[in-house]
Amino acid sequence: MLIEETEIRQRVAEMARRIEADYEGREPHFVGVLKGAAIFHADLVRELSLPLTMDFVSISSYGPATSPVGPLSLDKDLEDDIEGKDVILVEDIVDTGRTATFLFQWLPARKPASLRLCALLSKPDRRVFPAHPDYVGFDVPDRFVVGYGLDYNQMYRNLPYIAALRRSRPEPSSAHLEHTATGEP
Ligand code: 5GP
Repeated sequence: MLIEETEIRQRVAEMARRIEADYEGREPHFVGVLKGAAIFHADLVRELSLPLTMDFVSISSYGPATSPVGPLSLDKDLEDDIEGKDVILVEDIVDTGRTATFLFQWLPARKPASLRLCALLSKPDRRVFPAHPDYVGFDVPDRFVVGYGLDYNQMYRNLPYIAALRRSRPEPSSAHLEHTATGEP
């Protein structure tokens, strides 16, 4: 267990208050990066008392599940025009920064009025690309984390807390959750 459900809820509310202050009088457009940010995005927008709109993109990378290397591909484009909108990208985690850097290179061509990055988690020690989230929930150590939208082989996204996979040999086929609130799985 790295971050408990109550801590996440409290921090998401704090982030929402900051965004409300920064975007007062405006109607931000929240773009969630699927699938990992889906849960965070849903909780964040429900905390906000601002008028807002939302959309989603999906980016995938190829490579081992615990090591996001390889080419990026855009699996799902935006559905809405973002020209003139105050766009806030919502990511689950900024790791190497490659996904965020890709989106920040690609989206300005669509002429948003502004573009900011909001991430639930950040691994600052892993940064390779120049990604600088404007809003960060928690800095986490260089561990592979799951829960609250984040997966391991598509599993564990529904955990209401964030946990780290146990480092075990051989990786990653015998990786296990280190702890869970219930002792399962
Ligand atoms: P980046 O492009 O910043 O290296 O990585 C971004 C994406 O890699 C995240 O949106 C997430 O899907 C995946 N990722 C990076 N670190 C982790 C991690 O610790 N756990 C999980 N489940 N996904 C991760």
